[in-house]
Amino acid sequence: MNEKPEANTAAAHTGNPLVELHRHLDGNVRLETILDLGRQHHLPLPADTLEGLRPYVQVTQPVVGVMAFIAKFELMQQVMVDADAVRRIAYENVADAAAEGIDYIELRFSPIFMADKHALDPAGVVRAVCEGAAQGEADFGIKANLIGILSRTYGVESCWDELEAILRGRGPAVVGVDLAGDEITFPSHLFVEHFRRARESGLHVTIHAGELPPGSPHAALGLENLRVAILELGAERLGHALRAVDDPGVLDLIQERGIGIESCPTSNVQTSAAPGYSDHPLVAFLQHGLLATLNTDDPGISNITLDHEYHVAAEQMGLGPAELRRLGENARQVAFHNLA
Ligand SMILES: [Zn+2]
Repeated sequence: MNEKPEANTAAAHTGNPLVELHRHLDGNVRLETILDLGRQHHLPLPADTLEGLRPYVQVTQPVVGVMAFIAKFELMQQVMVDADAVRRIAYENVADAAAEGIDYIELRFSPIFMADKHALDPAGVVRAVCEGAAQGEADFGIKANLIGILSRTYGVESCWDELEAILRGRGPAVVGVDLAGDEITFPSHLFVEHFRRARESGLHVTIHAGELPPGSPHAALGLENLRVAILELGAERLGHALRAVDDPGVLDLIQERGIGIESCPTSNVQTSAAPGYSDHPLVAFLQHGLLATLNTDDPGISNITLDHEYHVAAEQMGLGPAELRRLGENARQVAFHNLA
């Protein structure tokens, strides 16, 4: 673990090591890299300058729903042309995390999503991500573990293929699995057996669930997805979990079991899962004694850093120094890695 630069305010708030647990490497491709790979492989990009490309990749205004947000991944996906491109994207994610002053990061990715556009071998994608991240660790002196995503938007059967690819392609840095994508069409209960197999294979479990706005017609399903994630999928952490605030019983369940929450405020505001920063349930989670953490989700799309999220937490969500420090301590506690 390297020494923190003085200027890193996130580390100043949270103490060391500085940790991020919820960042999609396939939602965090540099604009420069999209341009560069597009040129190299003669791909039809909608613009040939960074500023021209920016509105196609980054969210500048809130959009309605997670799926509209996911449409921004399109160009990133197009440049995942071969194993070299995948390796580069993983490597640059580690480089960028190091540049932010992060000491330990868990980067997640969906091999089926990354393989999709150019019919790559999903297990080969897993191997390439492992290689790129390992080279990044060696060059930049931080620790980067990986989480394989089952992308439920592709369906239940595809998630079996995706899990097999993760298990076949994984190196030692792959420490967990996640479930992401459309939780309304593909609720948690469809994936009980997938996660049983993942746990039996020695992988930790985190689940995206309850990522829905207050008053959503699907709010009850969001709560059910949270309960199933905890009780049947074996979730040790939950991604977003916004709708947990609707039911004190679910908050108690999360608290009693010591389950971590991966909060990503800017992403939630941009997808409209939270109406605004001041309405975000992170404050309520901390008040309930939950192991909530602060994360960026898709920084390449949101155009943010972890430091930005700590600033937002302090300035727009009203968190004081003790609460910011608690967020950092929680992240160290619920990481899928011994940071003691
Ligand atoms: Zn996410």
